[in-house]
Amino acid sequence: AMICSYGDSVDVKIFRDMGLEPRVIIDRDGRMNEFSGFLRGLSIVEARMRIVEELYSRGLIVKVEDLVHEHPVCWRCKTPIEFINSKEYFLKQLDFKGDLKRVSQLMIFYPEEHRRRLLDWIESVSTDWPISKDRYYATEVPVWRCLDCGEILLPEPGRYYRPWIDEPPFQQCPKCNAPRGRLRGELKVLDTWFDSSISVLYVSKYGDDKLFNKLFPNTVRPQGYDIIRTWLYYSVLRIYQLMGKPAFKYVRISGMGLDEKGEAMHKSKGNVIDPEPYLKKYGVDAFRFWAASASKLGSDYRFSEQLIKTGSLFITKLWNISRFISSFPRPDPSEIELRPLDKAMLSSLNMLLDKCISAYNSMDVYTPINEIYNFTWNLFASHYIEAVKSRAYNFNGKYPYGQQKASWYVLHEVLSNVLKLLAPIMPIITDSIWRRLYSKRSIHLERIDDPRSDWRYSSKPLELLVNANSKIWNLKKNLGLSLSSPIKVEIKFSKEYADIIDELRDLHKLENYVILEYYGETIEFHY
Ligand SMILES: [Zn+2]
Ligand SMILES: [Zn+2]
Repeated sequence: AMICSYGDSVDVKIFRDMGLEPRVIIDRDGRMNEFSGFLRGLSIVEARMRIVEELYSRGLIVKVEDLVHEHPVCWRCKTPIEFINSKEYFLKQLDFKGDLKRVSQLMIFYPEEHRRRLLDWIESVSTDWPISKDRYYATEVPVWRCLDCGEILLPEPGRYYRPWIDEPPFQQCPKCNAPRGRLRGELKVLDTWFDSSISVLYVSKYGDDKLFNKLFPNTVRPQGYDIIRTWLYYSVLRIYQLMGKPAFKYVRISGMGLDEKGEAMHKSKGNVIDPEPYLKKYGVDAFRFWAASASKLGSDYRFSEQLIKTGSLFITKLWNISRFISSFPRPDPSEIELRPLDKAMLSSLNMLLDKCISAYNSMDVYTPINEIYNFTWNLFASHYIEAVKSRAYNFNGKYPYGQQKASWYVLHEVLSNVLKLLAPIMPIITDSIWRRLYSKRSIHLERIDDPRSDWRYSSKPLELLVNANSKIWNLKKNLGLSLSSPIKVEIKFSKEYADIIDELRDLHKLENYVILEYYGETIEFHY
């Protein structure tokens, strides 16, 4: 039987499976060799043309037509390439498939669905891993070979060997006693994943037993899904072979950063985005705001200058909120008398803490940044702060002192908690405000507080406030009044929430208002 050698990797597999002896006719320099008859010495391209000529001259051509077929090319420069035969070092992996699947189940994946990709890949592995290559720059394969008996000699561990230039670290061949001069250093280098697959041992301080036992394998592997088959798989393989354990406690898989149109960035496509100008223009925190808010963990995310701008506006907003709040002292909790709106604000803060902490615990920053942004801007700043401004100043002494202090208390509680929640994502602005307002010590040494059981109040007054605000602002807009103009209205709402009428009156300059009792869930205004 004859089979055309190595048109693609299927041929390679057939040769291996059937144990066929290949007859190589192309040299490593791409020329036809002595087994190729009249083609000898020609390049591959020349040989193809020469064969066609030969077939014509022998009258063997029946017809000529165009055919489309696949041909392997260099991934980088697209030059057509040929399979060649060469001896390589292989690492066993087929024998380990069952164990690798088992330890893959022992690691925690965020998000969980990416575990499947690793398991599918393990399942599909069909040959052992060729770990050596012929390249100039890479880690040397640290072995010597005896020219006389062919024995492969492995030097003592403990130092870095460069077999292509180092003296052989052996006096003679331990097998056949051939002299040192007969020992040749290996010229091949290792596959890059052979090194990077044990990076977890390096970062866990392998060799320092005390630290290593603490750190390994309580580690997290953060990486993109594009290298699950390589970096993650080879790490799991090698760490299992070396340590008999799963390589990581957690695997955090992120998506790919795409351009603004949602396309992958490539040098050749010319759509690569350089982050430097954006970092210079908007700062690190605004850039990180985009990175966190652009997509869910595990999904691809697009570059968006608009989101960076939003982050930049958020920084300004935080700064302004903080400046306002900093004009009030942080009162002692024993002196405060919380109003229903204050309680509702603390209760909403509790819910924010809940959501963010559970998201952070699953290594997710997308939920926290979006929740914190909405809470801080659209609830705290737009509604609560606006509603308690006049109570916080209390120029005419309308509110009891305890209620005035309660507003200060809530303002500071919300701000300080928001800063701590936000610190992992926007580290610069949060630390800067924190040190000005709350402590000389960095915010990054603080713990995020757990939700407080004594803050579990009804959030209804805050919902009513939001609802009422938008109705009155709309009413004023429709009447052509500025938002700060006084207005005379008839208000209908349930007595149960009558307390927030004070904040509404302050905020909207309600004049001569009439309150009508009404047992509904919203507040109605009639002009
Ligand atoms: Zn190339
Ligand atoms: Zn020998």
